[in-house]
Amino acid sequence: MLNDLFEAGYDGPFFTCGETALSYREFYSAAHSLAAALSCGGPSPVVIRCGASPLAAVCIAACLLCGRPYVPVSLSLPPVRFEHIWRVCGAGLLLAPETERPSAFDPTLTWYAGRIRALCGMGAAFEAEPQDPLSPAAYFFTSGSSGVPKGVCVLRENLEHFTRWFTLQPWFAARQPRVILGQAPFFFDLSDAHFFPTLFWGARLVIPAAADFASLFETFRQSGAELAVWTPSFAALCLCDPSFDEAMLPGLRYFWFCGERLQPALVQKLRARFPHTAVINAYGPTEAACAVASVEITQEVLKNAGPSLPVGRVSGAAAGLSVSDEHELYLSGKSVCGGYAGLSSPAFSFKDGVRRYATGDLAHIAGGFLYLDGRRDGQFKYAGCRIEAGDIEQTLCTHCGVAAAAAVPVENSRGETEKIVVFAVSALSPRQLRDRAAAFLPAYMMPHIFKIVPSLPLTENGKLDRNTLREEAARLCSL
Ligand code: AMP
Repeated sequence: MLNDLFEAGYDGPFFTCGETALSYREFYSAAHSLAAALSCGGPSPVVIRCGASPLAAVCIAACLLCGRPYVPVSLSLPPVRFEHIWRVCGAGLLLAPETERPSAFDPTLTWYAGRIRALCGMGAAFEAEPQDPLSPAAYFFTSGSSGVPKGVCVLRENLEHFTRWFTLQPWFAARQPRVILGQAPFFFDLSDAHFFPTLFWGARLVIPAAADFASLFETFRQSGAELAVWTPSFAALCLCDPSFDEAMLPGLRYFWFCGERLQPALVQKLRARFPHTAVINAYGPTEAACAVASVEITQEVLKNAGPSLPVGRVSGAAAGLSVSDEHELYLSGKSVCGGYAGLSSPAFSFKDGVRRYATGDLAHIAGGFLYLDGRRDGQFKYAGCRIEAGDIEQTLCTHCGVAAAAAVPVENSRGETEKIVVFAVSALSPRQLRDRAAAFLPAYMMPHIFKIVPSLPLTENGKLDRNTLREEAARLCSL
């Protein structure tokens, strides 16, 4: 089924990002032609360094067509993390569809935009062979607690299951969206929710390329969008401008949010500015290919909710969701990915022959709704991005001359991470430490405050006293 998405089926416009647009015909032809070239290189994974361009979409389709797993990574990934990803997934080729020239850190086998465009334009035929649904489709690397990124092995079956689940959500039954407004770059698994459904429905995908509000909003105005697939953080940013309202997106029927906590206050603001647009809150980790549960936040749901909104409706065990006696949310079934690349993790198991994943999310189910109650580990979200405190801490200790470190998220009154504070035992000054860390941490993981301390506080039983550090971090941020 997955490869059916890339076989000529639709006509008309497919994807617009900034100045670049691609029709379905161009997309199918380019993807097949590139697949023909990729299939000559053996089965090894292909790293795709990209943002959200149509040519990146072609690269992904070509990899899936010829059965080579794709590994989408950010353009701004620090070299040390890139090298780790390259090694761990055993990659054989780097595709750089948004880069024209080599950079010093690129692997020997790299195809840049010019070569990719040329291969896409050759019109080579490619007959896709059936692939094992349990074979890897992609590796999505996310923050790992041991100081290196962790590669979630997404199976072909996961993507098929997700696409089916997404397109069968009840609110799309009445009318399929014809234009989808995406936001996420392809290295973020939220992109699954705009890319695959667009192809399934034969819809049009619009992704803004703009960095400034004026051109971002101009893209919105011109889009004719009916469905927005966004993080709540992105919507909150747009709401900062008073002109962001229904007049700008008159055809918008649904906001579909995922990836981080959706605040009741944000929904209220959206309802005021977009009275005719449904707001949907969806939940899922990368380990379950984007999302597994969703719920429409109606006026009634909003009225009955406490400080936390539900993240899904639950209809028994069939949904593949269960909450353990320790209040941890478990997922099972076809949504659960095939583990981590080169790493065995107790979070994955089999129960009665079915894949199972312990999410680390604390949760409860009440009145048929699923609610999240925090994490049982050091993972947190900052601006929609997933971060393990241990990732920052270990990176500083391994690469930056730090003897010990503790990274602490500081939340605002709405429970969103506002700042990241690091307490570090180091001979470096905060400025020196920041400069060093910048070479090893992705920008979104960079702590806002570095506090040099003589030692880290311990609890009575010798563990790191995170509560004391949390209080100290909050104090530092309120100064
Ligand atoms: P990621 O793998 O980056 O998508 O992050 C997955 C994690 O994000 C989940 O395990 C949750 O902790 C959090 N998350 C995802 N969706 C939601 C949501 N709708 N509300 C609150 N937290 C969410």
